Amino acid sequence: MSAVNVTLQPRPDLDASVDHAIQAIVAGSSTASTCTTDLATGPWDFDTRPGYGPGSSMGDVIPTGAPRQGELPAEYREASEEELDVRVRAAKATLGDRVVVLGHFYQREEVVVHADYVGDSFQLANAALEHPDAEAIVFCGVHFMAETADLLSRPEQAVILPNLAAGCSMADMASIDEVEECWEQLADVLGDLDTPDADGLVPVIPVTYMNSSAAIKGFVGRHGGIVCTSSNARTVLEWAFARGRRVLFFPDQHLGRNTAKAMGVPLEQMPMWNPRRPLGGSDAATLRDSRVILWHGFCSVHRRFTVGQIDQARAEHPGVRVIVHPECPMEVVDAADESGSTDYIRKAIAAASEPTTFAIGTEINLVQRLAAQFPQHEIFCLDPVVCPCSTMYRIHPGYLAWVLEALVAGTVHNRIQVPADVADPARLALERMLAARP
Ligand code: SF4
Repeated sequence: MSAVNVTLQPRPDLDASVDHAIQAIVAGSSTASTCTTDLATGPWDFDTRPGYGPGSSMGDVIPTGAPRQGELPAEYREASEEELDVRVRAAKATLGDRVVVLGHFYQREEVVVHADYVGDSFQLANAALEHPDAEAIVFCGVHFMAETADLLSRPEQAVILPNLAAGCSMADMASIDEVEECWEQLADVLGDLDTPDADGLVPVIPVTYMNSSAAIKGFVGRHGGIVCTSSNARTVLEWAFARGRRVLFFPDQHLGRNTAKAMGVPLEQMPMWNPRRPLGGSDAATLRDSRVILWHGFCSVHRRFTVGQIDQARAEHPGVRVIVHPECPMEVVDAADESGSTDYIRKAIAAASEPTTFAIGTEINLVQRLAAQFPQHEIFCLDPVVCPCSTMYRIHPGYLAWVLEALVAGTVHNRIQVPADVADPARLALERMLAARP
């Protein structure tokens, strides 16, 4: 899988910047709405407080001990957008091939313009592999993505997350302690989880979405399990069903449910596991009869999309093509014309030969960028409220300038390193995914 090297050519009258849209809303020069006017403030105002900050996941509970970002020096907080742009370009030019900057599809436009590669988390981790001589990989995404890049990069390469507070509320919904506890409870109900039955199947195979911590990927690797992405979830579930009676899928219940449902698994055989309740809130008989046990996790960005929004889009735009991400709730995926990963959405739009109206159910930064990149189509976000991923939004250009200028001066800020005892089994789970074939 190769990453997407994007050359942005925005239409002059169409600004892809979500930040500009939010600033215009707050200034009163736009009639659009945002989920919170706090988005107009620099993320450093929130870095010292527990919480995900303003945006889609601001209501989610941040785990105790989540990394916090120290104070960003005033020269970066106070610099204008133009000044930061010049400083980032200058630092990148000085560093040359010594650094690779990766930008996630959901990242702010002001940061993405500096990225050498733009893509989803796994595409970007692979892009880093194409630069084995780079000393530093600056990952403009969220924490689990930087961990994955560290797993796949050479030990001497420093993977840098410009703002340590850029976590992922979905990944944080499955902690290693909760997953270990779940595993023990499942063993009480299902018996020895490592011993295959007469058909050669173990009672349960753990499957984790890429959007999970390295500790969770390591757990999966140690217990015969595998990682999946939103592009290969079906292939991975087939791999797991060839080896186990059932699957424990975490952290995203929606990706698990939508994928298993499309494979014909009945909903009544997909109980939810709520880590705060005994037996996940289920019972022994239901767990024994299950095919997929769904962890009680979700993405607060994709949870915002509703069937009502789709109905409205169809009413206002006859012939609209509705594409949503599989992290959306099942009823939204069912009501859409298509569902697929960010890469699927981008390719579907790129492949449309006739001018088309697209209503897209995924993060607003990607939707606005696609709208600017494909002016022959009308492309809009299903959610009428401007509400980006809170955590991705923490990577402001000020942080990018700070880490790059530090590299020029010989200092590495915010290095993300996965300990070896976690990294080895986590890599094994990733390797199983790469080897899995439909
Ligand atoms: S969009 Fe959702 S899954 Fe992706 S980083 Fe943000 S909170 Fe996490």
